[in-house]
Amino acid sequence: MSTFSELGLKEEILSALIEMGYETPSEIQEKAIPQVISSTDDLKAFAQTGTGKTAAFSLPIIQQIDVNNNNVQAIILSPTRELAVQIGDQIEKFSKNIRGLKVVTVYGGASIEDQSRKLNRGAQIVVGTPGRTVDLINRRRLKLENLQWLVLDEADEMLNMGFKDDLDAVLESTPDTKQTLLFSATFPREVEAIARNYMHEPVEISAGTKNTGSDDVSNEYYVVTERNRYAAIKRIADVNPDIYGIIFCRTRRECQEVSEKLIADGYNADSLHGDLSQAQRDNVMQKFRNKTVQMLVATDVAARGLDVNNLTHVINHKLPDQNEAYTHRSGRTGRAGNKGTSIVLVTSREVGKLRPIERKIQKKFIKREVPSGKEICEIQLFKLVEKVKNTEINTKEISGYLDNIYEQFDGLSREELIQKFISVEFNAFLEYYSKANDINDNRPARETDDRGRRRDDENMSRFFINIGRKDNLTPPRLMGLINDQNITNNVEIGQIEILDTFSFFELDKNFEKETIDAFLANTPEFEGRNVNVEITKKRRTGGGGGRSDRRPRRDGGNFRGGDRPRRDSGSGDFKGRRRDGDSSSNRSGASGRVQNKSWGRKRD
Ligand code: AMP
Repeated sequence: MSTFSELGLKEEILSALIEMGYETPSEIQEKAIPQVISSTDDLKAFAQTGTGKTAAFSLPIIQQIDVNNNNVQAIILSPTRELAVQIGDQIEKFSKNIRGLKVVTVYGGASIEDQSRKLNRGAQIVVGTPGRTVDLINRRRLKLENLQWLVLDEADEMLNMGFKDDLDAVLESTPDTKQTLLFSATFPREVEAIARNYMHEPVEISAGTKNTGSDDVSNEYYVVTERNRYAAIKRIADVNPDIYGIIFCRTRRECQEVSEKLIADGYNADSLHGDLSQAQRDNVMQKFRNKTVQMLVATDVAARGLDVNNLTHVINHKLPDQNEAYTHRSGRTGRAGNKGTSIVLVTSREVGKLRPIERKIQKKFIKREVPSGKEICEIQLFKLVEKVKNTEINTKEISGYLDNIYEQFDGLSREELIQKFISVEFNAFLEYYSKANDINDNRPARETDDRGRRRDDENMSRFFINIGRKDNLTPPRLMGLINDQNITNNVEIGQIEILDTFSFFELDKNFEKETIDAFLANTPEFEGRNVNVEITKKRRTGGGGGRSDRRPRRDGGNFRGGDRPRRDSGSGDFKGRRRDGDSSSNRSGASGRVQNKSWGRKRD
């Protein structure tokens, strides 16, 4: 391993690096710095986020900037405003001992006039987002005739975000003589095309293997049903009271939903997505950086600019649409030499989607079990004990009350006292989790008995309904009928068994009473008959033959297109799903948790 000085950097830079606490170069720095200092060849670098690539391209450029020349000599393009600002800030720090070196950062959503004025005063290095950079070039405020270095940072992200035309425009308005440095964590076709079209026989370097995940990240997965995704996140958070992580969602709406639930359940969470104004995003990111927020629920794009090195976890609420994105997500943890865990929540049907990701990251996913209520209670109990042990005693404030308090506890043994104090906080938690089910979905995708019929599900209650095949009842019609009673949002429907004059259906057992009440209150009719529903405790093994794994969701009385129930062979046995939520959280236990805010959730 070399030192920064052995890489050929000059004294002014070395002294700044020492001040910043950079002791030894990272792998990408070791490879890129001497290469860019000693050669004008284009460079194609495979580097994940968090590997130190900012210094890898900035330091050799800073080293070679002519400070006596005020023309723009280097431009660095980055996908987001946040990342551009970080790079600009880093360059200022790296070059603080170099008199006359000026860097200007330009990005959309801020005054173009201010940025133009700064450019006018002279800057040798410009960091910019593609759109604003093109705008400034077109207005002739940014002149690149004397450019020597062009850096494309996170090229894959820039293309993902639709900046292809802007990149083409910038690349075409720069002199052929420049040196292009392209940094990307992944090399899909579009990035290769940029390299092919705009670079001349580039030298290739990589930190780690191409497209692979970091060795510092443990990739793990949990198999849960669709409706238990959220419950699993809560348990993961509860079993890791010091969690500091990002929960990735695919859409803004998903983000909003997950974060709202977490906040309502008393966790230190917030969301970061494109619907927020820049000021709101800055505010959320600041709270996350200073750990006021422990769990940030974010979309892929919004999380790009976040420079946090010590995340303990990344949680994939749902897998990303593109496998490439998993590399980016998991790369948010295990940075700068820290260890991290990247968790994926999958349904039994999605497990197969992990294989192509494994091939890409060249790592195996480890299967984990969603922690049981008992495990969580144990962990929280010892966390509480630790907290009590480490609590400082404010003698001054409490001394006046102590005699009275001692008197009240008179007669209690040390052991009894400890038990009582611990129970004050612990009981609510214990009560909440005493009702918690095992939420691992360990069934194979099609779990049937030896006659091909669906097995009983102990989380379901079985109901009798007085209509059947002769009333033209079909499983989809029965599901429609159940959904029309508005029992509760997206209640989970299990097996359906249609017989000639009556039928059975299963429904989440937490909603037994609500179901009966809803049918009683609504007194629905079906094909002219009054419908009547009763609970039947007697379960029959197996359903009526074929089954479907489709999980329709209810949305204002209609099944959504893609989620329509499908009829399999013969009689129907359909599975409906309430969307999410730990079933126990809909019950009394939830209130216990919200009140109990001190364990890894709200910091007091
Ligand atoms: P980057 O990949 O450039 O975003 O860097 C990730 C983080 O690692 C940043 O916070 C850097 O400040 C830090 N970093 C980069 N290189 C080093 C180094 N050689 N020593 C210590 N920290 C570093």
